[in-house]
Amino acid sequence: MQELRWPTYALRDLVLDAAVPDERGSLRVRDTQGRVYLDAVNGVGCAPLGHAHPRWVAAVHAQMQRLFAAANSFTTAPQQQFAAALAERMPLVDARVFIATTGTETTEAAIKLALRATGRNTIVAFERAFHGRSLGALACTANTAYRHPYVRCLGESQPEQPFATARVLRLPFGDFEALRRAFDEHGRDIAAVFVEPVQGEAGVYPATREFLVGLHGLCRKYGALVGADEVQCGFGRVGVWSAWSRIVGDDPALSPDLMWIAKALGGGYPVGVCLARGELAAAMGKGTHGTTFGGNPLACAAGLATIEIIESEGLLAAASGQLPALQAIALEEPCARVHEVRGLGAMIGIQVGRPGEQIGNAVGDRLMRDHGVLATVCGGHTIRLLLPYRAGPTELREVWRATCRAVEAEGT
Ligand code: PLP
Repeated sequence: MQELRWPTYALRDLVLDAAVPDERGSLRVRDTQGRVYLDAVNGVGCAPLGHAHPRWVAAVHAQMQRLFAAANSFTTAPQQQFAAALAERMPLVDARVFIATTGTETTEAAIKLALRATGRNTIVAFERAFHGRSLGALACTANTAYRHPYVRCLGESQPEQPFATARVLRLPFGDFEALRRAFDEHGRDIAAVFVEPVQGEAGVYPATREFLVGLHGLCRKYGALVGADEVQCGFGRVGVWSAWSRIVGDDPALSPDLMWIAKALGGGYPVGVCLARGELAAAMGKGTHGTTFGGNPLACAAGLATIEIIESEGLLAAASGQLPALQAIALEEPCARVHEVRGLGAMIGIQVGRPGEQIGNAVGDRLMRDHGVLATVCGGHTIRLLLPYRAGPTELREVWRATCRAVEAEGT
């Protein structure tokens, strides 16, 4: 069939058809030829329960029959319950919730709130960061190939208009001294520091506790906001509800001011949220932000069902166990061509080849073609696994063996 979509995606030679039915949520998908694959791409981390978990499907179906569209000028019970469930589970003090549909929209909400609440104009973002592809979020994203040529192309034609001229200051991830110097120099202008507690897109790099706590301290000292982008690493993927809490701990005095989450949040249904401390959310008065689909009853019912299933099936603990299980397998069955296995919980990067060697895409293709494993490749060198939370040693061993074979087939 002719491809009519814009050529924006690096397409892989595979037409997906259906999930293989599984009462516990499917870990495997089938292509149109009938071949079955272990799915570690997982819609890029969007199916934490696996595909078509029967209780999730039933909850979404029931809401669809009841009411599926409601403008945000009205309130619905699923929306209220979903906001409350998130506020209860995330580490923000007195959290208020903006519900959107995608990750990039939640970054936009965070940018707007940071500028409004502080009256400042600078966002600090990090090298290797990914925050989305709408123009505000893109300015915070590091990859220049994604940013060219848009950043700066939509400037205000009448600069005297009283609109904020925001800018992004980019610093090395994990470098506290660079951050301290930036605050020394620009501290009065910095509205917020945006950080992924585990960077996903560039190859799965967790931040250290020391860095996040240091960052938090600098923000408090200079009156800037701490923004945690948990679009990919949040919502249970690292084994607790928030990756910030997993790394920093539960002390409310060290909690972020803003946090945004998407991907896993709807269990497969598109939902994103931006949470902010109550006093900050007050800066977002009527008309300052909005979206048509965000927070519709169907999306909220999907999110609520996802929370309920994650908790009732012990999936946080299961997610937490994935990285240690894979590391144990890697010790049992060493593979010289694997440089490093890193990550947190169910967010795992397997860096293949020698540092600087870009064999990731070739290995990713072999995984799919020769071993029936779907995985994304990050930074040209890292196989990223975003398996459903319940995946365990059996699937991890399968991925490990396949990766070792694929990497060995790519030479020494
Ligand atoms: N932020 C992070 C950390 C992400 O990983 C992503 C997507 O990969 C986004 C934001 C953007 O999310 P979306 O693709 O849903 O717009």
